Amino acid sequence: MSHVPDLFRVGLKRGRIITMPPAERKDLEATKKLRDVMGKYFADLGAGADAGKKTAWCTSVGPAELLWAMGFNVYFPENHGAMLGASRMATDVIPLANARGFSPDICSYLTSDIGSYLKGESPLQKMKLAGPPKPDVLVFNTNQCRDVKDWFQFYAREYSVPCLGIHTPRSIGDVDDPLVDFVAGQIESLVPPLEQVAGEPFAMDRLREVVGISRQTTLLWKAVLETATHLPAPITFFDGTVQMGPAVVMRGLKEAVEYYQLLLAELEHRVTQAVAAVEGERVRVYWEGMPIWGRLSNLGAQFLQLRASVVASTYCNSWIFEDLDPADPFRGMARAYSSIFICRSDDSKESYIERMVDRFKVDGIVYHDAKTCPNNSNSRYGMPQRVSKRLGKPYLAINGDLNDLRLYSEEQTRTNIEAFVEQLLQA
Ligand code: SF4
Repeated sequence: MSHVPDLFRVGLKRGRIITMPPAERKDLEATKKLRDVMGKYFADLGAGADAGKKTAWCTSVGPAELLWAMGFNVYFPENHGAMLGASRMATDVIPLANARGFSPDICSYLTSDIGSYLKGESPLQKMKLAGPPKPDVLVFNTNQCRDVKDWFQFYAREYSVPCLGIHTPRSIGDVDDPLVDFVAGQIESLVPPLEQVAGEPFAMDRLREVVGISRQTTLLWKAVLETATHLPAPITFFDGTVQMGPAVVMRGLKEAVEYYQLLLAELEHRVTQAVAAVEGERVRVYWEGMPIWGRLSNLGAQFLQLRASVVASTYCNSWIFEDLDPADPFRGMARAYSSIFICRSDDSKESYIERMVDRFKVDGIVYHDAKTCPNNSNSRYGMPQRVSKRLGKPYLAINGDLNDLRLYSEEQTRTNIEAFVEQLLQA
């Protein structure tokens, strides 16, 4: 172990160690409020379930607005999966799901979450909650992957409750009217079975209202992320993975709107004061693919010390749904949820990344090849090479996983990132 108390090693040049004073992480003030906002969301879920409110489980890009509008508690198992990853509980519980027949090669959100259920241990217990609320109905959208359907069907069998779903095509080029009609029809057809579970009739006015709030949330979230188009960026991908909680689980709730107004004001102030999330920002990086939840703080610290700002990501941007439309809620939801990056064709994805690189003034791209999520890994069929050739921007592909840390080599990744940043500095 090297001893450089006042300096941090940031790279090698012709075999010489390059050092700099350590950079300090600048926490966002709003994060204190975020803890309350998220804590209240989970407390309300538990209290609602205790009071007999019906609970719907929803995939992260499922029809959450419809479920909120119909009076359900809405709970998102993928968020729980991310919590299992971030708390590093995942690696311990995944083998229980494997023993139940779920392969170690499939989605490690799924195997973490089912393993956590089988073991009876959840990060929610650290928040003094019993664990995930029991579902009365499960609602998926295959716009992300087929795994979510298998995942929800497991719980439907466990709890003997209905599992409903939307089957969205994959590799979508243009999100055209026939496609929107097809998906909108599926969302609308969920209403009668959901009414049966809810025990209340559907009200269009309430759906319009919830979709309106959701749209406000999403536009604020977009504005938050876009503050990083400024030089220096006031927020990084690593901050974004924390700040995205309300955009994922609370879109449709006024509390999410209020929180992002607060956060945006803080970031806009940072922009006017030229406050950098990464002091002395030297290079700007785009993160493509899933976060490595159990190593986010280590990675964030490494990029910080390298003075490399990860200014944008596909992942955080995946909860921007500008097509939500209170005037035409079913078609708006269909268009929004079929436009997300993960279900688009490679041509659409590449154009998207190119726009992001340009807009956020990115110097290089990191592709995370997440072993158990081929659906959200885009470095397997030549995309990095094609994009790099077109844009003249270097890229780095790293192997890892969202939750299963047995599939990730920290040492190798650290070395590769260090070399990549050096390459960017020399470009
Ligand atoms: S997109 Fe990937 S991480 Fe998300 S649920 Fe599907 S397989 Fe899992």
